[in-house]
Amino acid sequence: MYSQNFGIHYQIQCFDPKAHLLKVSLTIESPTQPEQIVRLPNWIPGSYLLRNFAKHLVNLSAKETQSGKPVQIEAVDLCAWKFHATQSVTVEYFIYAWDLSVRKAHFDETHAFFNGTSTFLAVEGQRDRPVKVSLVSSEITNQKQWQAATGMPVIEVDANGFGDYYANNYRDLVEYPFEIGNFVSLEFIAANVPHKMVFTGRFDQTVDWDRIRDDVQKICQTEIDFFGQAAPMTTYLFQVMVTGSDYGGLEHVNSTALICARGDLPFLGMDKPTDGYLQFLELCSHEYFHTWNVKRIMPKVYQQSDLNQPAISEQLWWFEGVTSYYDALFLLSSGRIDETTYLDLLGKQLTRVYQMPGRFLQSVAQSSFYTWTKFYQQDEDAPNSIISYYTKGSVIALALDLTLRKQTQNRISLDDIVRHLWTHYGSQGIGLEEKQIEQICSELCLKFGGQSLEVFFATLLYGTNDFDFESLFSEFGYDFILRPAQNSTDMGGQLSIETLEKLLKGQSFTLGARLQDLPAGGVKVTHVWNQQSLYQAGITSGDEIIALNGLRIQTKAQIDQMLQRYQNGQTWECHYFRRDELYTTTITPQQALKDRVTIVKSKAPAKFQWLSTAGAKHDG
Ligand code: ZN
Repeated sequence: MYSQNFGIHYQIQCFDPKAHLLKVSLTIESPTQPEQIVRLPNWIPGSYLLRNFAKHLVNLSAKETQSGKPVQIEAVDLCAWKFHATQSVTVEYFIYAWDLSVRKAHFDETHAFFNGTSTFLAVEGQRDRPVKVSLVSSEITNQKQWQAATGMPVIEVDANGFGDYYANNYRDLVEYPFEIGNFVSLEFIAANVPHKMVFTGRFDQTVDWDRIRDDVQKICQTEIDFFGQAAPMTTYLFQVMVTGSDYGGLEHVNSTALICARGDLPFLGMDKPTDGYLQFLELCSHEYFHTWNVKRIMPKVYQQSDLNQPAISEQLWWFEGVTSYYDALFLLSSGRIDETTYLDLLGKQLTRVYQMPGRFLQSVAQSSFYTWTKFYQQDEDAPNSIISYYTKGSVIALALDLTLRKQTQNRISLDDIVRHLWTHYGSQGIGLEEKQIEQICSELCLKFGGQSLEVFFATLLYGTNDFDFESLFSEFGYDFILRPAQNSTDMGGQLSIETLEKLLKGQSFTLGARLQDLPAGGVKVTHVWNQQSLYQAGITSGDEIIALNGLRIQTKAQIDQMLQRYQNGQTWECHYFRRDELYTTTITPQQALKDRVTIVKSKAPAKFQWLSTAGAKHDG
């Protein structure tokens, strides 16, 4: 590989941090005849939205590599250009990098981060050829002594990571984002694979880096052990951007790009993990599991995509839902959390589904199919009209796990399905056809003494009715309880027995809306649940509630307090703004629906095993 002559060579430089410009030059040794087309993708794998990356490409030109003579280049469409040349041509352009997320590119005096989909033009007709990437140092990278971290295979680089890299083809090329800056770097080994975490951003002296390294190491080791085979990657990199309040991650073949809030990192002296830190660990666990599930075990349509047009699949319940189910399970099976904490996380996850009336209108298969236009482009009506394939997908994973365990008398579980897909598809590079995973689940269930899962999938994946978790959970020694919310900040999960009993006996009231405190005081309505209280009052998303019963309202906590004291049958006079116009209406709070989930250990003994073995090491 190293001695290979690369016919396609990209050079990229952190050029102008004030204008946020990355400079790219692309040398194509043998342009296709009679014309060569170069094209930037429209979407990035793992994030199902057409993002038209070419809108950030500026000042495109081309020249003969040897003579420097200009070559005329013209547009083919909004994201592709063509030229004619019979000898080596160098195409030059800049990328405007000012998107602080894991999906595009970002560059200023603090760091640079870029994805290949944002920066590297594909050379049409030559996408299968190996390419060389040279990361070139610049004034700012020299001055600040920045380092580079990427999963891209190295040809030869200096101590800071500047130099030459390669990828086997274009599709591989966009799998290796770069993080460049002065970062905190953590290293560890899991199952003989060297892992690295790099953190950019501002953080103080109190961050407990050892704890992060230890926790993430245990999670990675647990996930590799789960598959019971050598890990599919030879190195792994976590690229973490730390900001004030962001959250997100994107998976790649041997790395992941994460963005998290400063306050979510653990601090020295922290005893019990905070909710924010658990969320960070779940994110690490989730993206890491994608190394197997979606980066290798993957839908055939994703394998075949050239990233121009949407690749449409109904299978995201598996790739995001199952991954969401396991991200928390691995925190438990790696010993990062105890069973009570796990049940709390699970109750909250289930609540995210039971809170959404949209689940009665959209199936998970549809949610996956339409993700390009609906899930990834949610508006204020989302709770009423759609369901998430992440949350309900994870609920299907849970139901499937318990159903397999029960039907086969604990002979197989979801763990075995995942490992089967890895052995027979993912590790072989074979993509999965639509509906194939459902068939495999049914076949394995039948083979080990259970029944066909046709009705199961018709109900949970293609249907919109709720699943009977009450009776299924009871056979595993748990009570599945649907209860009303205590207040607007109650997201489900564990409660003390006393609070739970009080809540189930008593009455609690709601406005059926999601509210947001405004920085200057006042409460904005962000989402309104159809048929509930604010809907009945004619208040809609975007409206600002300013007074109730003649008294000024400045925070949603005030509304919560009024709801706590509410007596059935009373009405409230409400003043609110829609746009800059003042309106008056009458609100009648309604009894809160039982849409929060709490799971507790039951008194009855378990007939089947679940958490004692789920997500654990595979031994043969
Ligand atoms: Zn995911």
